[in-house]
Amino acid sequence: MIFIARPRKCRRVEFIPENRHFAPIDRIGCQADEIVLKIEEVEAMRLKDIEKLSQEECAKKMDVSRQTFQNIIGEAREKVVRALIEGKAIIIHGGNYELELNRYRCRRCRRQFKTIQEKENFCLRKCEIQRIEGGDNNE
Ligand SMILES: [Zn+2]
Repeated sequence: MIFIARPRKCRRVEFIPENRHFAPIDRIGCQADEIVLKIEEVEAMRLKDIEKLSQEECAKKMDVSRQTFQNIIGEAREKVVRALIEGKAIIIHGGNYELELNRYRCRRCRRQFKTIQEKENFCLRKCEIQRIEGGDNNE
């Protein structure tokens, strides 16, 4: 791994998963090796693979270059696949990010949104909305 000595810019992130510890079910309680997935790595996969945004949109959202986005998501996917193949645990933790607060959360699908409008455009109307106290994503 190469470390470049220059100030790192924060990656913008809109979502922090509530569950941050995953392990193969038959290894719970054992000392499975752990892979640390950074918050911004999860965000990269969420934007690209779940929200289905283009690489350019993803990079813009996270406030990084396309090349940097490509690096982040490449590393993220490798970690997840490694965990699946090698039976390792995943801890979602740390990284270099800045949280862009979302004020609302859908009670059903757990997605988070900045405005009620955004939520209604996205979700089933039936989904019940929950105000996130103080915009706190990190409970
Ligand atoms: Zn929903």
